[in-house]
Amino acid sequence: MPADGVVCRTWLNFGGSRRIELSLHLLFVLTMAVVTWLLAVGLFPRLFPGWQPGLYWLVASGVAVIDCLAALAHELGHAVVAIARGRRVYRITLYGLAAAARRSAGPSRPRDQFAIALAGPVSHLLVACALLCAWSMLPIDNEPLRVAMGFPAMSNFLAGLLNLLPVSPLDGGRVLRAVLAAL
Ligand SMILES: [Zn+2]
Repeated sequence: MPADGVVCRTWLNFGGSRRIELSLHLLFVLTMAVVTWLLAVGLFPRLFPGWQPGLYWLVASGVAVIDCLAALAHELGHAVVAIARGRRVYRITLYGLAAAARRSAGPSRPRDQFAIALAGPVSHLLVACALLCAWSMLPIDNEPLRVAMGFPAMSNFLAGLLNLLPVSPLDGGRVLRAVLAAL
C-alpha cells in the first residue's frame, strides 16, 4: 500500500486541462466495512425484524455505498461550482463519509465563496430528493428495498441540513462568512 494511504486513483475530466484527481483512501474501505457491519448487525435487525439474514447485509452494504458516494457528490458539488467560477480543483480524496478537496487558493469574490460553499449541502439535498423520488415509486410491500432507498434519503437530508448550520468549519459557516463579507 502506498505511503499516502490511497488505494485507488483515477481522473475525472471536465474538458481541456480541467481534470481532477480522484483518490480513494484506505479509510474509505474501512468506513464502508464498519458502516455496513453496524447497520447489518446492530441497527436494521432491531428496526426491521424478520428479514432473511443475508438481506440485512445486502441492504446495509447498499446504504453504505450510497452514503459514501454522497460524500463524493458533496465534494463534486463544490468542485463543479468552483471550476465554473474560474478556480482550479486539483484533487478530491474520499475518506468514507467525509472527503477533502485541494483547490487553487487566491482571493475570490464573496459571491463566489457563497456559491462554492453552498454547493456542498445543496448536493446532499439533491441526492436526498432523487432517492426520495425513487423511494416513492417502490412497491409498498418491499420493506428491504424501501429501507435501501429511504435510509440514505434521510441521512442525506440530515447531512445537508447539518452542513448548512452557520458554524465553522461547516459549509454553513463559510456561507455566513461570505454573506458578512458582502455586507
Ligand atoms: Zn463541503
